Amino acid sequence: MSEKIGFIGLGNMGHPMAKNLEKAGFPLFVYNRSAEKAEDFKAQSKVAVDVKELVKNSDVIFTMLTNDQAANEVYKQILELNISDKLFIDMSTISPETSGKIADAVKIKEASFLDAPVAGSTKPAAEGTLIIMVGGDEKDLERARPYLEKLGKQIKHLGKNGKGLAAKLSVNYFISALYQGLAETILFSDTLGIEREDMLDIINESASGSGATKVKTPLLIEENYQPAFSLDLMLKDILLAKDAGADFPFTKTLIETYKSAQNEGFGKDDVIGIIQYLSKM
Ligand code: NAP
Repeated sequence: MSEKIGFIGLGNMGHPMAKNLEKAGFPLFVYNRSAEKAEDFKAQSKVAVDVKELVKNSDVIFTMLTNDQAANEVYKQILELNISDKLFIDMSTISPETSGKIADAVKIKEASFLDAPVAGSTKPAAEGTLIIMVGGDEKDLERARPYLEKLGKQIKHLGKNGKGLAAKLSVNYFISALYQGLAETILFSDTLGIEREDMLDIINESASGSGATKVKTPLLIEENYQPAFSLDLMLKDILLAKDAGADFPFTKTLIETYKSAQNEGFGKDDVIGIIQYLSKM
């Protein structure tokens, strides 16, 4: 018999991910702090009134939350319950240190914990083609695998608790540099009189193109920075990388640029909206 699945955090990522678990037919209980984001689960799944109701009624619980503070707040409530034998899978991007403390606290209560952050934004989340980077025990991953397979196209086990996040912080460090580089390149080619559509066509068809450049192409052409992954979240990840030891020539520059863009009011825009800040420099 299938285990009962819980999903906490129905934001830009969590909502489509939970929908994929629902579509796969798993018995699903969801919870979101702002109740309206759970509305369209009512037809097929159950919606919990709070974190505790969800956890009491689930065997395997996913969390997809903004940051360390959100994870600490949610797991504080979870740790007040009897959680023995339950499996928690945190897919948020938080610090390996915070995640490690949560993992230890969960394990003391005879439950299991995986950090399983993801690469890929809202489109792969909706398509179930995320890359999932896992830290934790092999047996817990095997228990999680049937559910993770509905969320991602690649499940990479990197070692003990915290290693999934270590890989995630590394990949996002690269992406933050890539987006700043892409934005600067587009501004440069703008000044040389090259149409954005032409420049992005060239980038995307050449060796410099990637899924990341392709996904941001329509935003740059339409100059519409509705967030799939907000600039605020990217700055959070660069700062987490710095705290985890990233100390390279790019590190200082990236922090300065993304922080200044946030201070100028671009934090809620998509990360490629960094171009709006750079264009004013
Ligand atoms: P989001 O849209 O801002 O959603 C964040 C979720 O966390 C919402 O459900 C929010 O609830 C909940 N939350 C925040 N603080 C809370 C608290 N104190 N208690 C309970 N719930 C709380 O963010 P997202 O884009 O889905 O990202 C989620 C995580 O995935 C982040 O760590 C992000 O870095 C990572 N990530 C994002 C992307 C992407 O492309 N967006 C890609 C890979 C990884 P409310 O609705 O009530 O605010």
